[in-house]
Amino acid sequence: MSFKDKVVLVTGGSRGIGRSIAVGFAKAGASTVVISYAGNEAAAQETVGLLQAAGAKAEALKFDVSDAIACANAIEGVVKTHGRLDVLVNNAGMAVDGLVMRVKDDDWDKQLDTNLKGAFALIRAASRPMMKQRSGAIVNVTSVVGEMGNVGQAAYSASKAGLIGLTKSVARELSSRNIRVNAVSPGFIGTDMTSHLSDELRQKMLEGIPLGRLGNPEEVAQAVLFLSGDASSYITGEVLRVNGGMYM
Ligand code: NAP
Repeated sequence: MSFKDKVVLVTGGSRGIGRSIAVGFAKAGASTVVISYAGNEAAAQETVGLLQAAGAKAEALKFDVSDAIACANAIEGVVKTHGRLDVLVNNAGMAVDGLVMRVKDDDWDKQLDTNLKGAFALIRAASRPMMKQRSGAIVNVTSVVGEMGNVGQAAYSASKAGLIGLTKSVARELSSRNIRVNAVSPGFIGTDMTSHLSDELRQKMLEGIPLGRLGNPEEVAQAVLFLSGDASSYITGEVLRVNGGMYM
């Protein structure tokens, strides 16, 4: 896979899966990799260092993806600064776990706004320059939880299921302009997001994974790179599972 001369934006690229995706693009020759983050400046700068070490021009943008105006400004800034936008990866996401009867309105809104509305706002903004270019690839990072549900994750699951509907609709809308839109659906991946789980819960989850282990961020990154490049030129509207067989 080669992304020579490509300009890529990875939201939530400062840590975890997003960092692996960003570094993957840099190693695959992308000329420019822009990452976004919410507030962890140290992690973002560390990632910028990794991207530069891999030979890419790198930039970190701090903005909240749940803010639609900030999303529009970010896309406009990337196109202005780097001349184009070839790949958008909507990876930024968060979860607030809790049984449905106790979920607060604010926590519901925060998850839907970050995980779903953010992706929509960025796609809306990116579609214009990509349509003008008559090329582009968009990959949305959904979740196995959006496909099968999970106790204590009603809002997170709803946001990730929504992302699949968004992916398929936009894939249909933008296909005539040579813009492909796909999703990657990770299972249980070892990052900060899953580090707080109790040993008991972790063991229970592992029992439901045929491959018998957590995935690592690089394994998700490989799927995102595949769907972003020429190797998947006839694939759009697809959801690629990277879950060790947890859901088939
Ligand atoms: P993570 O380690 O918690 O990293 C989250 C990233 O998103 C960070 O870069 C964070 O920025 C950024 N972010 C969070 N809220 C944001 C906001 N409102 N605006 C902008 N950026 C924001 O998460 P991860 O485990 O790598 O997960 C990445 C994606 O994969 C998420 O969409 C997640 O739902 C999905 N996923 C993860 C798993 C898993 O098992 N880990 C499984 C399925 C799907 P800061 O560094 O500034 O906080």
